[in-house]
Amino acid sequence: MAQMLIGHDEVAVVSGRTIEVINPATEEVVDTVPDAGPEDVEAAVAAAQRAVGAWAHTDPDERARLMRAGIARVREHQQEIADILVREQGKPTAEALGEVHHFLHGMEFYADLASKIRGAYAPLPSTLGPSLGMVIKRPVGVVAAIVPYNFPLTLMGTKVGPALAAGNTVIVKPAASTPLSTLRVAQLLNEAGLPAGVLNVITGAGSVAGEALVTHPAVRRVAFTGGSATGRRIIELAGPQFKRLTLELGGSDPSIVCPDANLDEAARGINIGRFFNAGQACLAAKRVYVFDEVYDAFMGRLVERVSRYEPGEGWVKAQKPKIRMGPLHTAALRDTIQDQLQDALDRGARVVYGGGIPAGRERGYFFTPTVIENAPHDSRVVREEVFGPLLPVFRVKTLSEAIRLANDSIYGLGSSIWTYNIKWINRAAQELEAGMTWVNQLHYGYDELPFGGVKASGQGREHGPEAMEYYLEPKSVVIGDLAIPDDDTEDSTQQ
Ligand code: NAP
Repeated sequence: MAQMLIGHDEVAVVSGRTIEVINPATEEVVDTVPDAGPEDVEAAVAAAQRAVGAWAHTDPDERARLMRAGIARVREHQQEIADILVREQGKPTAEALGEVHHFLHGMEFYADLASKIRGAYAPLPSTLGPSLGMVIKRPVGVVAAIVPYNFPLTLMGTKVGPALAAGNTVIVKPAASTPLSTLRVAQLLNEAGLPAGVLNVITGAGSVAGEALVTHPAVRRVAFTGGSATGRRIIELAGPQFKRLTLELGGSDPSIVCPDANLDEAARGINIGRFFNAGQACLAAKRVYVFDEVYDAFMGRLVERVSRYEPGEGWVKAQKPKIRMGPLHTAALRDTIQDQLQDALDRGARVVYGGGIPAGRERGYFFTPTVIENAPHDSRVVREEVFGPLLPVFRVKTLSEAIRLANDSIYGLGSSIWTYNIKWINRAAQELEAGMTWVNQLHYGYDELPFGGVKASGQGREHGPEAMEYYLEPKSVVIGDLAIPDDDTEDSTQQ
């Protein structure tokens, strides 16, 4: 049984309750972890509070050095960590290794920024006497990092990286169903030299451990990634205590394929963008709008690529040219995708490829990659987030129509357009209601650029140097009584 990580200690919960971690490909138990209650959250927050003063005062270069030592240690164990991720999350080994690499790249990015924090100087009016104005930046304090199951490591890294670099201490709450890779990575980061209490992990249900963490008065900052409904709940809980919040929530990214698009590249990018991680990505091409004149040519290319996916166990490599697709993470999620598909079909949509549970795959939560067309724009595949391998494709006649339909969603995370027409690129960049727009590229979250959404996709940004600002409190400092004396004698005696 895995244990929680509080300070440098592996800790069980006071109640002795546990949660089973299930392998989504086999439905077998991988391991069990403690099911934390408020008393266990209290212990983790106390550890983070004890560590926060010393960590905030540690030289930034030293913070960076300790983070890099941890990064090196995780890199040495990358295959072991990827194997854990495959078994608890379901993704194929190659994707799991890719996730570990993305995590490491992000952590390096923030280790490099630890010593680059900058404040400001402001000339002040002399009404109250000559004064100097400064803006200094201080760590916020104890941070709660709440992470979903789809990318447990990268989404932990986007919080832990900037938080630690800025001098905060952190308590990570992974999804109850994917705690094992998180615990192992945190253990390695600690072993490499992070002081006790700087990075802690509690395991347990969001409704209990998560809420206890969000509402704990000593937690000053909540970094949350998950569904929009949970995001709303986090606002209700954290808002009254005026906590600093970032919310990275759901999405329903539109992709627009224009008549001049490179159709091979568009089909490649949209295929990966939709079906990577078995479609369980916030950022993914979830609705595709294709101009009439290239619709058939695009669809042919897309289906050719989608048909290469072979659902199966993530640890078994597919025979080329097949590409492995893992299962969905839970049975409930698979049922939701099935229901969303059925709703579209009942309203007149047509399956172009796939549909349903693959033959012989009744055990494990597998779903065939599926492409549909003619779904009405008020069907569930448009109104709701589709968090699985199901892609609706729509015909459009003009860019105005494409942008109008693209914006007809409560979400606003990513978006993309496939064209070389500079005026259309400009219109898409200006008019698509989203936190991000890709042009002739798949939806990919670079560590270097701010990442986040508008509307029901959330608030605040992760990634980029911008993310550091959410872990720093700007403080205005005024130094008064700075009149320069006329008398040289007085000047020298007062120095
Ligand atoms: P979720 O149900 O909202 O869970 C996310 C995390 O929040 C889990 O650790 C969960 O714990 C915890 N949680 C649940 N209820 C809570 C509460 N009342 N208080 C505090 N914590 C609570 O999301 P999910 O279904 O696992 O993840 C998929 C969603 O995440 C999708 O909507 C996806 O689009 C979104 N997502 C967004 C981004 C982005 O950057 N915008 C990235 C990835 C995923 P338990 O699981 O243990 O209950």
